[in-house]
Amino acid sequence: MTTEDLEFGKIAALRQRLLDWYGVCRRDLPWRWSRDPYAIWVSEIMLQQTRVAVVVERYKAFLQRFPTLLALALAPEQEVLAMWSGLGYYRRARMLHKAARFVADRLKGNLPATAEELRVLPGIGAYTAAAIASIAHGERIAVVDGNVERVLCRMEGWDAEGREGGAALKRKIDALAAQLLDPLRPGDFNQALMELGATVCLPHKPLCLTCPLTADCATRGEHKTAPRPRMLSREIARALCVRNLSPAHGDPKQDVAEVLLERRPVELTVMPGMWELPALREAAVAERELVMTVRHAIMQVNYYVRVCSVSEEDVETLTMVGGERRWVSLGEAAQTALTGLTRKVLARAHLLPAPLDGALARRPDKT
Ligand code: SF4
Repeated sequence: MTTEDLEFGKIAALRQRLLDWYGVCRRDLPWRWSRDPYAIWVSEIMLQQTRVAVVVERYKAFLQRFPTLLALALAPEQEVLAMWSGLGYYRRARMLHKAARFVADRLKGNLPATAEELRVLPGIGAYTAAAIASIAHGERIAVVDGNVERVLCRMEGWDAEGREGGAALKRKIDALAAQLLDPLRPGDFNQALMELGATVCLPHKPLCLTCPLTADCATRGEHKTAPRPRMLSREIARALCVRNLSPAHGDPKQDVAEVLLERRPVELTVMPGMWELPALREAAVAERELVMTVRHAIMQVNYYVRVCSVSEEDVETLTMVGGERRWVSLGEAAQTALTGLTRKVLARAHLLPAPLDGALARRPDKT
């Protein structure tokens, strides 16, 4: 099928096949039960660059803690970051929080309803604005994420990796997405196309035999596939320094264990202001007791982390000071904006509850 062939009857049939498939095969996800623009906004921001399986429980917990835009706007940033812990890409949480405050302060708490108005808010780009407006308000605007781009390129036989790529291809994809959009059910149609890309038209092994668009597809699996990005490896070391204040300090009935944490400088571009375990000097690693090794992936880098136990007396000589340091009780640490690695290490040491694992790129929104 080419764009020219897309006369009305064919488009209507394609829409119907896709919507029928979506009605039967879509995953049961918590944000699909809501038309609340705020809840949809939260889900869309969480789903950018993070796998659905990782988002589900955190989405529920986040909305339980911040059930309304106002509740989010009134919360301290550190608490918002703590609730974001494990999702990664913390800039998203900061921008979400900033936008909630903007809406509460300047727009009397009313989240704009149109995609055009939504784009004015911090952290909301074309993709997120279209998703909120179409799903929550039924605006007739196409949502084009990486999944949709892949489906449409394959349907048309467009080479996403070829020389034609870039702005010209993007314009063709956007135009086709707008042409295909179902005007009566734009929100469902957008979600259906994204769902098809996420569960059937997979990046490396599309399930063409179960695809509702096989009859409309020019390639049916015979397309070029982008090579998987190569992961880099890095070795680092961290100090696990825990002290127990009971019973000599404070209330003898209370057993208060504290862990030493360090705050990342706020001017950093990666995880600024988050709390983490202090870095261990390389020479100290061999001399100390190795508590565990952890593999932790951040973007395209696999970090192999050696975690050593360091006593309170040795901490100054064995670690490198990277930022402000503080002893934090375990109860407080659970509510603190920790890096994903730190939360993972503390959980494996049975000092904090276990986080859900893993985060993977999904839908970058260029804002
Ligand atoms: S037929 Fe295959 S390649 Fe074409 S859209 Fe469906 S899953 Fe993707």
